[in-house]
Amino acid sequence: MNPKARKQFGQHWLRSDKALNAIVAAAKLNKSDRLLEIGPGTGILTRRLLPMVESVVAVEIDRDLCELLVKKLGNIDNFLLLQGDFLSLDLGTQLASFPNFQQPNKVVANIPYNITGPILEQLLGKIAQPRIPAFDLIVLLVQKEVAQRLYAKPSSRAFGALSVRVQYLAECELICDVPAKAFSPPPKVDSAVVRLRPRIMEPLVSEPKRLEQLLKLGFASKRKMLRNNLKSVVEIDHLSNLLEQLEVNPQARAENLSVAQWVALSNHLTHIA
Ligand code: SAH
Repeated sequence: MNPKARKQFGQHWLRSDKALNAIVAAAKLNKSDRLLEIGPGTGILTRRLLPMVESVVAVEIDRDLCELLVKKLGNIDNFLLLQGDFLSLDLGTQLASFPNFQQPNKVVANIPYNITGPILEQLLGKIAQPRIPAFDLIVLLVQKEVAQRLYAKPSSRAFGALSVRVQYLAECELICDVPAKAFSPPPKVDSAVVRLRPRIMEPLVSEPKRLEQLLKLGFASKRKMLRNNLKSVVEIDHLSNLLEQLEVNPQARAENLSVAQWVALSNHLTHIA
């Protein structure tokens, strides 16, 4: 019997073999992989991962679940459980006390949906400060609507600031959709498995802070043209010319620009703050 799910921790126990298999396959596991799992819950995914890799470090916030996990998996020597909030825990410092567990190179997790944004930022870093070292691969089960934004192509309905922010830092692909009934209790929304492959960062964008600012302003009001959303920082005619140079329709909205076009735009707007 699974413990009762706690709402405040976004707990939904995955119970579909098909979804579990898809997550494991998407991670392309090797015996030398060191995994990070966020929110192992009752350990259903953890249990599958452990025999396939060098180690699994799992971070779980719920004390009662940690007790349960120690009972179930505590005697497996390539398993390390850290109790705490993934968002505030300093993994590097924590791992320094466990010489048998090195920094993880991949992340595999069914995460709590209420903190998806902050988790992505922890795992990838920000445009202004990509995470170093980058993970080799990140496989996550997330809310379907978020997944759609992560792998959205420019000009599609789901393409937004989050798409640019994340796609700047990582290549994103959809692995499969997972229906709400694959969980107990079922969440209100459908889910999807996504795979992120952080990019080896070359200094693409000259002033990352400027790109962050442009994205914030540019996507602020989605139905407006980009040049109107940016008019507080760039003169409309100037922006229209620049967009033409970059082969973007001057009447484009923020969602019509590809990641590369955003980077080019930011690099050309050297005179704004
Ligand atoms: N992986 C399990 C559980 C997923 S539910 C399964 O697939 O069945 C999400 C899990 O994340 C829960 O176990 C919840 O307690 C945990 N969690 C929620 N917030 C967390 C946080 N800030 N840090 C670490 N774990 C968290």
